[in-house]
Amino acid sequence: MKKLAFIKRSSGRHWVGDGFPVRGIFSYRDIAHDLSPFLLMDYAGPTDFPPTTSKLGVGQHPHRGFETVTIVYSGGVSHKDSSGGGGAIGPGDVQWMTAASGVLHEEFHSEEFARTGGAFEMIQLWVNLPSKDKMAEPNYQEIVRDQIPKVALKNNAGTARIIAGDYEGSHGAAKTYTAMNVWDMNLKEGHLISLDLPEGHTTALFVLKGKIRVDNHLVGSAELAVMERDNEKLEFDVLEESTVLLLNGEPINEPIVGHGPFVMNSKEEILTAIEDFNRGKFGTFNR
Ligand code: MN
Repeated sequence: MKKLAFIKRSSGRHWVGDGFPVRGIFSYRDIAHDLSPFLLMDYAGPTDFPPTTSKLGVGQHPHRGFETVTIVYSGGVSHKDSSGGGGAIGPGDVQWMTAASGVLHEEFHSEEFARTGGAFEMIQLWVNLPSKDKMAEPNYQEIVRDQIPKVALKNNAGTARIIAGDYEGSHGAAKTYTAMNVWDMNLKEGHLISLDLPEGHTTALFVLKGKIRVDNHLVGSAELAVMERDNEKLEFDVLEESTVLLLNGEPINEPIVGHGPFVMNSKEEILTAIEDFNRGKFGTFNR
């Protein structure tokens, strides 16, 4: 049985642009090794926004060396990037953007959501790329709700939407560079959840809503339970109806050197990224 390594809570709230009031749950800046291949997770909301005609969010900015994964729970996000990707996603949808060698993009509340206003809740996850893929071609996967397999867990304990990875033969919608499971789980009160996951891989449970008990520790809203990598079996009790994001993946055991929106393996590569960005090598797009 997997043991709890530690529980991570938000280090505080900050705004990303003027649209995303986020709690930073973890970052490679504080815990690089423990969460690999996951680099960072920001949890936005739940926050109520009034209707508006202004464009809330964050304007053109670059990324290089990793992937940004945006999971919308409530509200809507629109995106545009220099690789030609773009679109608006809503509740249940996921945007999996491979920045790799470099993109310039913008992220805003979708026009539709801005017009109506309401509850906004999303997660943005940064997923590292192995050094051999950091300079791969950028890519954009728009994964709408209907493309994500939804499987029933045993004993009617709830459902898991397989965003990436594999659950007993159901294959996740996202194409990934390294082995990982990213599952959006809705769990019913009073059930014991038992999952078999690859030994040696990173495993963490993020509770958006509700309460679970894992290895005798209570984990509540906006808390991340990081498990030891030993053993395959992960078990936890669902104490209240819960929404939980499972993160599980093969660690990338390579140096991490980051600077703002760039995450590479060395300081030299960071300097090159800054230089390339200043020379306009990340491309352009029209707003
Ligand atoms: Mn971004």
